Order: sequence, then structure tokens, then C-alpha cells
Amino acid sequence: MTETVSMLKPAANNPATQPELTDALITSVKAKAAAVLALLQNAVTTLEAVTFANSFGAEDMVLTDVILKNHLAIEIFSLDTGRLPAETYDLMAKVESHYQTKLNVYFPKSETVEFYVKTNGINAFYDSIALRKSCCHMRKVEPLQRALKGKNAWVTGMRAAQATTRVSLPVREFDEANKLEKFNPLSDWTEQEVWAYIRMFNVPYNALHDQFYPSIGCAPCTRAVAIGEDIRAGRWWWEDPTNKECGLHVKK
Ligand code: SF4
Repeated sequence: MTETVSMLKPAANNPATQPELTDALITSVKAKAAAVLALLQNAVTTLEAVTFANSFGAEDMVLTDVILKNHLAIEIFSLDTGRLPAETYDLMAKVESHYQTKLNVYFPKSETVEFYVKTNGINAFYDSIALRKSCCHMRKVEPLQRALKGKNAWVTGMRAAQATTRVSLPVREFDEANKLEKFNPLSDWTEQEVWAYIRMFNVPYNALHDQFYPSIGCAPCTRAVAIGEDIRAGRWWWEDPTNKECGLHVKK
């Protein structure tokens, strides 16, 4: 079952981002965080060249915190599509100052974007699924492929409960499309546990989450969700939910 906003807990603005930190929740989060750390430590020991794709969503901020606080030898990279919300850039700057680090950001190839825009229009992704997917490909998938080059494994912040497209998400799988191991350490985490971790450890997060944006991507393809809506309902909301992935996590 995928989560809806009404399943998540209270707050001044958004119930989801401020769960009540009960003893049971704190205990569960600590145990799961320890398991994530052990998993990532083992991945580094056995596979060495491990990288983490940080898209600055709440889940990715949990993993960023685990990796940087524990000085794990995992490279962190991000994709700047050129269409991100201002709040995401604000968070990127905050991450650099909070963790005293510099981000490793991949951009799309400018000539490909220029050609796409000239041929199809600046907001052509609204016109058809094919044009949306080709936009995601040039702005996300191709830069991801460059970022994964030479790596033995990558880490994502995906959770099984996020979407109908992710219900059977394993903690570890082989990524056939990119030909390397893929770890989804937060696969069994709930939305509530993610936010409990963020609150417990004062992890920086995207201000849009407080404004009912549970899942944040590019600005023109992300909207806030209403109470009761699926947590990924705000992504490419004009498309069929069974089809809503950007191409970063497709199976071959
Ligand atoms: S999410 Fe939207 S703007 Fe971003 S790459 Fe995909 S189609 Fe393009």
C-alpha cells in the first residue's frame, strides 16, 4: 500500500513533516539508522567504488546525514536539471554550510537542451509523455549515466511505500540498465520514520516539504498535494500514476 498525506502526523503547516517523537518511533528510527549504516559500511568494504545520488528529498537528506556524519567513503553527487525550484538551491547551499562540504553537481549537456528547446519549446514536457520522458532523459538520465561511470554500486533514497511503481523495492538489487549494484537502504522506512530522523538529528531539508510537497523534483513538474492524495501525486500529476518515473530508476 502506498502512503497518503492523511496517514502522516500533525504540524503547524504540514502534518507529515513534524511527527510526534514517541519512544517507540525514536527506538525504531535508531534501529533502522544503525542498519542503514551497517549496510553502507559493508557496501564500501566489499564494492569500494560506491556513490550516492542525492536529489535533496527528505529521504536523501537522511542518507546524506548518515554518510557525512560517519565519514563513509561514499561519493555524493547531485543532478541539476536546470529546472529545480529555488528552495532546492537554497537547500543545496545549506547542505554545503551545514556539513562543511562542497557538492558534486552534474548538469545536462547544454547543446542537447538547446536543441530540445528550439525544436519542441521551453515547456514541451507538458505536451506529451514522449516529450516529458525525453526531457527527463537529457536532464537526468544522461547526467546520471556520467555520474555512475566507473562505479561498482550506487545508493538511492527510494522507499517502497512511495509509489505504486516502487512497492516491491528491494534493499539491494542489480541495476541492469546501468550495470552496477544498487542499494535502496530506506526501502522499508515509513514517511514518519524519515521525518522523525530529520527532527531527531536536526537535518536540513527542503522548505517545500512544509508546504505539502512530499516529493520534489523539477519546479514545472512538481505541485503540492492535498490531504488524502498519494505522496507522489504532485509529480507529473497530469500522467497515469503507473507510469510516473523519470527514467532514473527504470528496470531494463
Ligand atoms: S521533471 Fe520535468 S523539467 Fe525535470 S527533467 Fe523531467 S520533464 Fe524535464
